[in-house]
Amino acid sequence: MHFIGSDLGGTNIATALVNEKGEIIEKDKRPTEAAYGPEHVIFNMIEAIKRVARDVGMENVAGIGLGIPGLVDIEKGLSIFAGNLGWENIPVMEKFEKEFPKMPLFMDNDVRVATLGEKYFGAGRGVDNLILITLGTGVGSGIIINGKLYRGKTYSAGEIGHTTIFSDGLYCNCGNRGCLEVYASAPGIARRARDYIQKGHFTIMTSMVGNDISKITAEVVSKACDMGDRLAMTVMEETAEILGIGIANYIDIINPEMVIIGGGVSLAGDKLFEPLRKTVRRRTMRNAGEKVRIVPAELKDESGMVGAAALAMEGLGVI
Ligand SMILES: [Zn+2]
Repeated sequence: MHFIGSDLGGTNIATALVNEKGEIIEKDKRPTEAAYGPEHVIFNMIEAIKRVARDVGMENVAGIGLGIPGLVDIEKGLSIFAGNLGWENIPVMEKFEKEFPKMPLFMDNDVRVATLGEKYFGAGRGVDNLILITLGTGVGSGIIINGKLYRGKTYSAGEIGHTTIFSDGLYCNCGNRGCLEVYASAPGIARRARDYIQKGHFTIMTSMVGNDISKITAEVVSKACDMGDRLAMTVMEETAEILGIGIANYIDIINPEMVIIGGGVSLAGDKLFEPLRKTVRRRTMRNAGEKVRIVPAELKDESGMVGAAALAMEGLGVI
């Protein structure tokens, strides 16, 4: 039996044909081209879906799952709001239903489907209470409680990126200030490094980017850390502390068995995870903090498309 998962991102669309074990049989990655508008983006997704199904034939695909960024209404099949695509109230599902009239179709928020991917086929196998936190351009999360995705009343559960971490902190594009995302997202990490440099701190990061500090990214900070750069290490430790506080609050509320951390920033590895685990231990209630396992995501950049396929499998009762 085959399933297709398509994960829509601001830059790329990642689509996979998978079997019921979550193994990828065929995959496709193509640019989103969001600037051309929603019709065009959805056309790109449909083309990608047809491409990965070409060898097995669409008649052998049991269901299709879609991961859509931002706020989605899964009952109406609507993208309520997706900032990085410039979408508002786009009837996504309608277009897919027209294209694939007899196919079982499912959609949900991109981070939530990635959470399903990790739960069924990644680091969270066999774990019924877990949180996935994604650290990338933004900071998002998905919640599994008693084996089921928790979505919340208005489908916005898990918005850890916009919880307040500093009451008088910097303004965020959501309108609030001091949000976790402002400090711990990839652009937030890069900005904090630049702030230090502008205050006169010495670092090899400056020469790594040819003295153009606007080119400093979270990846540059991570590489400089590996080279033993003092400032980069400070920035990384601060990131772990800020994230650790946010995650400790989350753990005390949800009491999960596992916290999985994914997204580009998580590739920093132990130099992020070690201080992060320490902060979490220090700031959580004793039992919850000692029992929780904080681990990197296993599916990496495949969690979205595999998770979208898992959404279809779950919807059809296959898993
Ligand atoms: Zn915010």
